[in-house]
Amino acid sequence: MGRTATKRERCMWDAHNRRIDYARVSITDRCNLRCLYCMPGDIPFIPHNDILRYEEILRVCATLAKLGVKTVRVTGGEPLVRKGCPDFLKELKKVPGVKHIALSTNAALLEPHIETLSKLELDSLNISVDSLDPETYARITGRDALSAVLGSLNAAIKAGLRVKVNFVPLRGLNDNEILPIARLAEANPVDARYIELMPSDAGNCVKGVTSDEVLAILANEYPDLKSDNSPRGFGPARYFVSARLRGAIGIIDAVSNRFCSSCNRLRLTSTGFLKLCLFHGDGLDLRQMLRGGASDDDIESRIEEAVYNKPESRQAQGGSNPESRIGRMSQIGG
Ligand code: SAM
Ligand code: SF4
Repeated sequence: MGRTATKRERCMWDAHNRRIDYARVSITDRCNLRCLYCMPGDIPFIPHNDILRYEEILRVCATLAKLGVKTVRVTGGEPLVRKGCPDFLKELKKVPGVKHIALSTNAALLEPHIETLSKLELDSLNISVDSLDPETYARITGRDALSAVLGSLNAAIKAGLRVKVNFVPLRGLNDNEILPIARLAEANPVDARYIELMPSDAGNCVKGVTSDEVLAILANEYPDLKSDNSPRGFGPARYFVSARLRGAIGIIDAVSNRFCSSCNRLRLTSTGFLKLCLFHGDGLDLRQMLRGGASDDDIESRIEEAVYNKPESRQAQGGSNPESRIGRMSQIGG
């Protein structure tokens, strides 16, 4: 069961001595884009009643925070398509124990909310930009939304928000934009992050580019590129800096590298399933507990028990190997 660090501050540990203090919370499975690698074509959406209400999500977050989760990243689907998302973020900020709040968005609907988010002192804003070319962007995301996305990105930078740009390199689609994306970090104080394509239920209509290939291209362009261990985020990215870059380069090699031994995260799906590992089905149906009248103490102890049993690695018994699929990213939240 979870160890207690001090009387005042609790924290959760799993059976493999990992401290669990980060939660990704998906508030919707819906999205205004249709990225080829995430949500291609027509897909059925989850009925509204099956999605947790904001007050239910806040109750789970309050319990997680009480147990030691310090950072909550709100994601989706696209979180900003859910009505009331900025107000939800305000409430989340007030939850005792939640020290950092973060948002992952495609930014197509973000610009009108920038002022609210900067007043909220959001700790991290991740913006997905899979191309800087309008046609390629539309080809990958299914929507002609690049100018809205770049408008939001610039407004967020101007407002002083801590921005990271997420880019999934795709063979033959946007793999010629690895340097243009890095140039965003040359011109602005933003981190440019390259995410390896993970196999998902979206199918294999696209092929990824390995982190090694991305790093080789970047190292050629920035010969002084060196790894940087200063704290920059809450997740598994490896960061690199260069004198020519105002921001850093982030590499998320979810497929070719393993970061299971330092995994600190939990995922709450929009239907209230507490997922312990991206590559495993195991977890806890919190919606059933929330709607079945479970007490805060019950929920707390079931979460502690589930977290203690977090799978050791993606390949641990019962889990899938990296080549197999992990379900719909839009439902899990990335
Ligand atoms: N809609 C928001 C967005 O696109 O940023 C938040 C949700 S999205 C699921 C979160 C992140 O997951 C995005 O950076 C997206 O690029 C990434 N993602 C989705 N499917 C992926 C996949 N199969 N492999 C790697 N990253 C993926
Ligand atoms: Fe929507 Fe984000 Fe998935 Fe693209 S990656 S379809 S923007 S949820």
